[in-house]
Order: sequence, then C-alpha cells, then structure tokens
Amino acid sequence: MTVFHDLLKVQEHDTAADRLRHRRQTLPELGELSATEDGLARLKAALAEEVNGAGEAARGQRRLEGELAILESKVSELDAKLYSGVVTVPRELQAMQTEGDALRERRASLEDEVLEAMGARDALDGQVADLERRRSELDAQGERLRAAVAEGQADIDRELAGELAARALAAESIPADVADLYEQLRARLSGIAAAPLTNGRCGGCHLALPATEVARLRKEPAETLVRCEQCERILVRP
Ligand SMILES: [Zn+2]
Repeated sequence: MTVFHDLLKVQEHDTAADRLRHRRQTLPELGELSATEDGLARLKAALAEEVNGAGEAARGQRRLEGELAILESKVSELDAKLYSGVVTVPRELQAMQTEGDALRERRASLEDEVLEAMGARDALDGQVADLERRRSELDAQGERLRAAVAEGQADIDRELAGELAARALAAESIPADVADLYEQLRARLSGIAAAPLTNGRCGGCHLALPATEVARLRKEPAETLVRCEQCERILVRP
C-alpha cells in the first residue's frame, strides 16, 4: 500500500460526495416545489385581479340600487299627489300621468340593470372563491413538498457527513504536494484526479496506454507519482 492507494480512496469518497451534492441540488421535489411556487405566484396575481373586479361590480350594483331607491320614492310621491285629489286641472293631471309613465319605464329598465349587475357580481364572486380554493390547495402542496425536500436533504446530509469523515481518514497519509496536485486536477478534470491503471488502461480517460509506456511505468518505484500522458490524471498502479 502506497499513499497513492490512499489517494484513490480519497478520490472514491470525493466522487461519492460529489454525487450526493448533485443529488441534493436536483431532488425531484425541488423541481416540483419551484413549479408549485410559480403557479402560486401566477394564481395570486389572477386572484388580486378578480378581487378587484368583484369589488368594482359590488360598487356598481350598490350605485344602481341607490338610483332605483330614489326613483321608487319619486314614483310614490307622484302617485300620492295624483290620487290625493289636490290636483283637479285635467291638463295637470295628464302631465303628471305622463311623468309617472316615464318614471315607471325608467324604473323597469333600472330593475333590469340591477339584476344584470347582481348576476355579474355573483359570477365574479364564484371565480374568486374558485381561485381561493385552488390557492389553498397549492399552499398545502407547497408545504408537503418543502417537508419532503427537507427530509431528503437531511438524509443526504447524513450520508455526506459519513463520506467526508471517511475521506478525512484516508487523506491523513497524503503529502501536501500530492494533495495540492490532486485538488488542481480535480478542479480541471470534472472531479476525477486519480484513477487506477488496470490492464494497461487509464481508469480516468479509459484509454489504453501504449505498451512501451506501460512497461516504463512498471519500472518506476512504487512511491513515484506517475500520471496518464493522455489525460494527465494521477495513475495508481495495482
Ligand atoms: Zn488517462
């Protein structure tokens, strides 16, 4: 056993830790959660618009109802005057009847408008209620997903802590210059800095080394650091 065999162990733990970190960042629930949060934001905007519309419709309905009440009292006043016997001149009576007819006609059309406004307001209130129901569903879904993400990440964190502890143990015997080179290569070569040499093949780039190169490496002392001439990774001989 040389420091390079320990280095290979360090590499294995680093690779495992990298995988765990990647898994932590790409938990399926994280994607679902982000989609849920986007949906919730869109829904809240739509809801604010509907609430606004419903408020406007309610104000419009009240205004029409107010107009109708004024008209009602005008009609009653006129009727009271008409049937009180105070007015006896036929031309005046005729004029009052004509005015009464016009008021009643206006009242009928206002009543229609009030009914229409009530219908529109009911529809808007219904839409607001639907959106609010959907919002609480999405809120609940978001909460479930956040809990699932936290649980998944906690599991991964435990596993990661195990890998890092084992890595620290394996790294104890590695000299500083070897460790530095290892880190530089790892940063440059997609996380793989040390690879086993198996049957004349580099475990990093998976290319077969020329036979002369394999023969040369075989003659190098075991404690000499050797590297793949194709991918530059540290080669660990069996
Ligand atoms: Zn290689």
